[in-house]
Amino acid sequence: MLYDLHTHTNLSDGKLSVDELAKQAKANMYTAMAITDHVDEYNYQEILLYLLNQSLIASRDHDLVVLAGVELTGIHPSKIAKIAKDARSHGAQIIIVHGETLKEKVAVGTNKAAVECNEIDILAHPGLISNDLAKTAKDNNVHLELSSRQFHSITNGHVARVGLEEGSKIIVNSDTHEKEDLLTIEKARSIAIGSGLNDKEAAKALVSNPGLIIKKALEQAPKSSNL
Ligand SMILES: [Zn+2]
Ligand SMILES: [Zn+2]
Repeated sequence: MLYDLHTHTNLSDGKLSVDELAKQAKANMYTAMAITDHVDEYNYQEILLYLLNQSLIASRDHDLVVLAGVELTGIHPSKIAKIAKDARSHGAQIIIVHGETLKEKVAVGTNKAAVECNEIDILAHPGLISNDLAKTAKDNNVHLELSSRQFHSITNGHVARVGLEEGSKIIVNSDTHEKEDLLTIEKARSIAIGSGLNDKEAAKALVSNPGLIIKKALEQAPKSSNL
C-alpha cells in the first residue's frame, strides 16, 4: 500500500499535468493519491470543477484511485472554515490547509483555524505547532502531516513528537510538485521512521490513517461535473 494525499499539478505550481502525475504515481506503485492544488478564496470552485473531471479520467486511464482535493493557501484564518465547508459541498474529496511552515511566511493563526475545523482532513507542514493545537487536531480528526518536501520537512521531528504526545493522527505526504518528488514505499517509510515514529506508529501514518481518509472520501456523494 502506498498512499499520498498531497500533490500539485500545473494547475497551481506543479510541473506535471494530472495525467502525467497519475501515470508516474502508478509507476511508483501508488495505491491511491489525492491531487490538492493550491487554491484561494477566489478560484477554489473553478479548480475543483476541473480536478473532479480530470481525476475521474486519470483514475480510469491509470487504474489508480485519484481523488480531487484542494490545499487552502494564503486564505485569512477567519475564512478558512467557511471556505472548507463550501469546498466540501462542491465535491472536494480531500481538504488540506497550507500550514505555518518555517519555509515561508504563512499568516499566524492558520494552524489554529485548520485544527479547529472538522472539515479539514490534513494540516500540511504545520511547522512548530504547539501541543495545544495538536490536541485540538486530535479532537477534530485533523491529521498532522510529515512532509517529504525539502524545507517543510525540517520540523517533522517536532510534529511527530507533539502529535504522539497528544494522540493526534499523523500522516506522511510528498507535497509533490515534480516527478522526482513522488514517494516510493521505501521513501515514505524513511520519512516516518526518520521523524521518530516506531514501526507501529509508522504503519498508522502510512497505511491506516490515509486509508480511512480515502474510505470516507469515496463514501461521499458521487462526484458531479455540474457544480
Ligand atoms: Zn503547502
Ligand atoms: Zn502543497
